[in-house]
Amino acid sequence: METDTLTFMNPATGVKFGEVKMTTTAAVQNAVDEMRQSFAIWSAKPVKERIRILRKFQTLLIDKRDEITNVLNQDCGKSRQDGLIELFVTVDMLAQYCSQAPKWLKRKRVSSGLYLFKQCFVEYRPHGVVAVIAPWNYPLTLSLPPVLAALLAGNTVVLKPSEVTAATGVLIERLIQSVPELAPFVRVVHGGGQVGAALTQAKPDYIFVTGSTPTGKKILQAASEHLIPVALELGGKDAMIVLDDADIDAAARWGVWGAFFNTGQTCMAVERVYVIESKYEEFVQRSISYAKEFKTGYATDSDSPYSMGPVTDPRQVKVIESHLEDALAKGARVLTGGKDQGMFYNPMVMVDVNHSMRLMQEETFGPIMPIMKVKDEAEAIHLANDSAFGLGASVWSQNITHAKKVADQVQAASVIVNDSIAQFGIPMLPFGGIKDSGFGRTHGQEGLMQFTRPFGYAVGGAPIKWDIATILRENGHYDLATAIMGVVYGKNGKRYHSCSVENLTPNQKTPASNRI
Ligand code: NAD
Repeated sequence: METDTLTFMNPATGVKFGEVKMTTTAAVQNAVDEMRQSFAIWSAKPVKERIRILRKFQTLLIDKRDEITNVLNQDCGKSRQDGLIELFVTVDMLAQYCSQAPKWLKRKRVSSGLYLFKQCFVEYRPHGVVAVIAPWNYPLTLSLPPVLAALLAGNTVVLKPSEVTAATGVLIERLIQSVPELAPFVRVVHGGGQVGAALTQAKPDYIFVTGSTPTGKKILQAASEHLIPVALELGGKDAMIVLDDADIDAAARWGVWGAFFNTGQTCMAVERVYVIESKYEEFVQRSISYAKEFKTGYATDSDSPYSMGPVTDPRQVKVIESHLEDALAKGARVLTGGKDQGMFYNPMVMVDVNHSMRLMQEETFGPIMPIMKVKDEAEAIHLANDSAFGLGASVWSQNITHAKKVADQVQAASVIVNDSIAQFGIPMLPFGGIKDSGFGRTHGQEGLMQFTRPFGYAVGGAPIKWDIATILRENGHYDLATAIMGVVYGKNGKRYHSCSVENLTPNQKTPASNRI
């Protein structure tokens, strides 16, 4: 592995504030083996017992809020309030999952179909050891909710946080270890892509990945060797469509928020805006004034005056700069904002952009809001769909029917009307992607149930003679089976029935020994 320690570096100040030893390949394997051993104990606990333990963890998260927002503040450069948003979403998610899990995970009785004398059930069983591989942009809320959902479903977990925000990974490890009833069922491994790759090779039973599309493809390929199921929550290039009947001031205000919250380092950030031409000028002007209110800077107080911190990962600066350079060379203009000092930018509103630019095609993951004029909604929808990605999108209109009609035509896994980004913060809404944004879902019932495998259970006495299914299984019942199929499923049951009854009169072809 590259080096054996990960340094904690505050991207706002450049000051080192700690380090952690990277987990070796052997220790990664040990972590998975250990979790496989402890799986039997955790999965045997009734759901209510798991909830009781996880609620202790929920209380701990609330009690430790200041420590958590302090670490997020240093690790990412984000304000303490933005860190609290991460914590809030995590706690909300856990609370709602704890209240729904008993209902969702309960064994369900299903129809036994033709097997009239059997009872059939579906049980939702855990996979075993779940690996959670997390990114750096929301290191708490993209790590803990999948870990907690997997635990609720009865799995044990190995988490690999991002190497870029390793301090948050260490904090999560410490928090989990401080709840003795939870500690034996989660392991945290530290390191970069190589540690992540070692985790895949250690053969967990399910892998939940949040990260970039290239990383997702690599993990999927590696997992396919062992046929490990994978959920991929990948990158995005979310479109915002502003229709002519939108509240333009609200669209500009919340569009700016969606573009620059967390310095644009949000998978479902507003990465491109399409505005109908009659409202374009007004939208651009209002966006500029709201972007100017979005102050850049860093403070450690809980009430920071700054809305936008630095870019967290130095590697991302290169991506932002290359998209900017390419767009400017092709005629785009920056109307406000630009590079500040260090890793800081002022929010950039850009116009005269088009789809030949990387800025409109690739994930920028930075503080740029490119706005494009379109002649009508058909063009807006066409451009929104002209993308390899399909994570989220937003549509703005004061006419909800109109908005829904447009939303239905956008290729995305979720669409929010008259707001931006907020759908991720709604615990009961499944979130995920289509196209290059991956597959699998987090949040909602689907987000919890992915950590289970449905187990089919059919029970009853030995097959009895009059059971339709027994009749079907015995030789010589072709005609009778046809009759049954016609009566039960055919469009005109009677017709099938009468023709078959004829076939069943004495002297029919069926041997006497097989008659019922
Ligand atoms: P990344 O792909 O660089 O890394 C994600 C994680 O994968 C990290 O923990 C990394 O160490 C690990 N990793 C890298 N190579 C690996 C390998 N070969 N095997 C196993 N693990 C490996 O992503 P990032 O830069 O940390 O995060 C930003 C990306 O995540 C953006 O593309 C963003 O859109 C995406 N993201 C998606 C969602 C979503 O819900 N869809 C949410 C947040 C972020």
